[in-house]
Amino acid sequence: MSRIQNFINSRFQDAVSGETLDVVEPATGARYTTAPASSYADIEAAFQAASAAFKAWSTTPPAKRSFWLNRLADAIEENLDAFAQAESKDSGKPISVAQTVDIPRAIANFRFFATAILQDASEAYTDVSGRINFTVRHPLGVVGCISPWNLPLYLFSWKVAPALAAGNCVIGKPSEVTPYTAHLLGETLEKIDFPAGVFNIVHGHGPEAGAALVAHPGIKAISFTGGTQTGRLIGEQAGRDLKKVSLELGGKNPTLVFADADLDEAVDGAARAAFSNQGQICLCGSRILVEQSIYPQFRDALAARVRSLHVGDPSEAMTQVGALVSAAHRDKVLSYIQLAKDEGGHILCGGLSKIVEGRCEKGYFVAPTLLDGLPADCRTNQEEIFGPVLPIKTYKEVSESVDYINSKDRPLGLYYFGGDDKEKDYVLNNTTSGGVTVNDVISHIQMEDLPFGGVGPSGMGSYHGYDGFKEFSHAKAVYKQTRFNLMKLAGLVPPYKKKEEKANTA
Ligand code: NAD
Repeated sequence: MSRIQNFINSRFQDAVSGETLDVVEPATGARYTTAPASSYADIEAAFQAASAAFKAWSTTPPAKRSFWLNRLADAIEENLDAFAQAESKDSGKPISVAQTVDIPRAIANFRFFATAILQDASEAYTDVSGRINFTVRHPLGVVGCISPWNLPLYLFSWKVAPALAAGNCVIGKPSEVTPYTAHLLGETLEKIDFPAGVFNIVHGHGPEAGAALVAHPGIKAISFTGGTQTGRLIGEQAGRDLKKVSLELGGKNPTLVFADADLDEAVDGAARAAFSNQGQICLCGSRILVEQSIYPQFRDALAARVRSLHVGDPSEAMTQVGALVSAAHRDKVLSYIQLAKDEGGHILCGGLSKIVEGRCEKGYFVAPTLLDGLPADCRTNQEEIFGPVLPIKTYKEVSESVDYINSKDRPLGLYYFGGDDKEKDYVLNNTTSGGVTVNDVISHIQMEDLPFGGVGPSGMGSYHGYDGFKEFSHAKAVYKQTRFNLMKLAGLVPPYKKKEEKANTA
């Protein structure tokens, strides 16, 4: 393929400095193209284009903005297969996942907000004293959207769609590790003649291009998805500049299995929670707690399921587990497996890097790994590994499971299978997490109308549905005295009298 370029003011261009970064296919370890390594000068060019476009876009009627977002969604859909192949090649994820999850969901994000903008209405507040009080939502201006590598187009569109729908102009900074589908998105914007300057895409490293976007004085808000440590840095900078900021961050999400759970459902859910996308989802169920009475049968059934997962070339339809996103990330995950062994963990299956023969023999594969025997407070049970590694533990009393869940501050998600209402209530009322899914895993992220977000270390702010607009708009409160009410207050309106009172006075 040709090299990836920035998309600014509807024109493709290299970084002002001419610097590039390598883009590697994780399944083979081979570099296949380059992307611009942008800096402040590129962000400034994008900002000039976006701010010039803002007046027209922010006053474009919602129906017209809706038209453009739907047009974009349609154009991605027409090219779904090319987008899916690009996503799989760039990130190492199985092609089936890109085809059925990543790209369809990106399309759905644009469609959801294209439709939602038509239903938007301002809030009015009843005031019996005669005043009229209401809110008017205004777009913020030029906003920055920074996204990670694990669900590249999915999470990029998740920010960009509500931002555009609400009338903002956008500078998007996709992950430097997976820039390919954002580039295809730029090509799609060009093909459909999307209004120039409204949506700009600047590629580059986080500490240069990303940090320049966050620091730019003209940017009114930053929407960030990525690691907790990066989120902290961005939050500090945004706080200094008093910019609006929303942060979707990491987590160590527990899956809880009560003794009365349906065993097949729970095994299937636990495996999906831990190993979908090679364990590289912020919502992965990355530690599991099983009630002691069913532990041996659950552990053995889960180990059998994990062993049966097909690790292979991401471009093949039968592959269930693909490559990790980079050599550095593979090495980090392998170092956690070593750490788990050092901490006393017993490997039930996996535990090694995996060689996939043929074109993928130099790819970054790790066998799905299940381990037990670890103490609750060890690093393997406490830190986000973001790979196919699942530590499993037992508990006797539900209070013990709650202590374990709470031993790691406020996860993004919490899942549980089985349990009577009393047990579920106890867990719900004694733990805090971004969201909860009962008898299923991860699926709440698929609901476009259900608010989604973290709490504390797993994030702040939320997306989806009306919350998506709120993140990208300002609610101006309007307190309006009516002329009639003012006259009444000034005593210029005679008090109301019934007909017969009026007749008597006359
Ligand atoms: P990351 O924090 O390294 O990078 C995310 C993005 O931020 C990239 O585009 C990167 O270039 C940019 N960036 C890095 N440093 C920056 C800086 N100093 N200033 C501005 N931008 C900067 O994260 P990652 O490794 O790409 O993604 C994995 C992490 O993302 C995991 O921790 C995962 O849990 C988290 N994540 C969270 C969610 C969620 O919705 N809560 C979703 C997906 C991933």
